[in-house]
Amino acid sequence: MISEDRVRALAGHRGSCVVTSCYLDVDGRRHPRHADYEAQLDGLLREAREKAAGFGPEAVRSVAGDLDRIASWVKGGFNRSHVRGLVFFACSADGFFDVVESPLPVSNEIVVNHTPHVRPLESILQAYERFAVLLVDRQRARLFRFELGELTEHTEVFDAVPRGGDQAGHPAQGSRAAHVQRHSEEVAHRHLKHAAEVTFTELQQRPVEHVILGGPHEVVVEVEGLLHPWVRERVADRLVIAATAGADEVRQAALSVEAALTRRSEAALVDRLRDAIGTGGGGVAGLEATLAALVERRVDLLLVSEGYATEGWRCRSCRYLGPMGRRCPRCAEDMDLVDDVVEEAVEEALANKCRVQMVRESADLDVLGRIGALLRF
Ligand SMILES: [Zn+2]
Repeated sequence: MISEDRVRALAGHRGSCVVTSCYLDVDGRRHPRHADYEAQLDGLLREAREKAAGFGPEAVRSVAGDLDRIASWVKGGFNRSHVRGLVFFACSADGFFDVVESPLPVSNEIVVNHTPHVRPLESILQAYERFAVLLVDRQRARLFRFELGELTEHTEVFDAVPRGGDQAGHPAQGSRAAHVQRHSEEVAHRHLKHAAEVTFTELQQRPVEHVILGGPHEVVVEVEGLLHPWVRERVADRLVIAATAGADEVRQAALSVEAALTRRSEAALVDRLRDAIGTGGGGVAGLEATLAALVERRVDLLLVSEGYATEGWRCRSCRYLGPMGRRCPRCAEDMDLVDDVVEEAVEEALANKCRVQMVRESADLDVLGRIGALLRF
């Protein structure tokens, strides 16, 4: 399973030789036959051999070993029903080999560098938070738990409510009818209380970031009032959806809520960055200023436009990062030219326990230079 801890550990990996990072799309929806993605893999492996040549003979040997191991892992077979992307990190010179099986698709990419290429993994993690959907009606409650966009758990609560009629279903009449009506409302209320309690217990055991409520409007309003405050403050939205909806319908509805939430929270962070820069403290933007803040360990949150990549320089002896080379301004050593200094910045931030936010389609962040940071001091 992908987790924030695992990505941070990978970002912090430092070895004696270069690391091969390989992202392979094995999504059965796009590649129904094994031969389809195996052909893609062959292309990636060729690309890696060429890239390794630029790092010298020791790297060429190590990368060749990495590629053999990746190829045999893929050919050895894996369960494609739950895996849509494979991510490999390898350095055979150090005996390092790690495979992440992603339930979400990845784009084919192979990178040879001194550190693992973790940015796409971090993007995947951020795109999908953990959330739950509670569907209710007067006698049914269903709690769905989603992780990385996939349904991971499902709990059903059913409390039979007497219909407003006799055993045969004929409507009752007169004061008898009023009594049955009142009784059935009490039972429904008890049912919703029960549903709220089960929800709290389940989510206490395995917490989520958001809860989405669904069902007939008046039932949703009632259950929301009965939820434990810890659950209620996580309610992100309410959907009018049948409590009997199929898992896939629930998932689709919930994912569009999640997508809207993600866009809103990204926009809010970009606004915070702009305000911090405008008031003259607490924030920096643009490549040079952001890299400088990162090197000085002043970054609290790094914001990067998704897809932003640019050349830059990295010092291997003191870990300085900058847009200009070749001499390191900190330790005067010669620095390495890197294809993507933004990637290096993201890894540095993750390894230093900074928060990193990839931002999709933000014209405001693009205007600020596609990268920026909120500062600790
Ligand atoms: Zn240096």
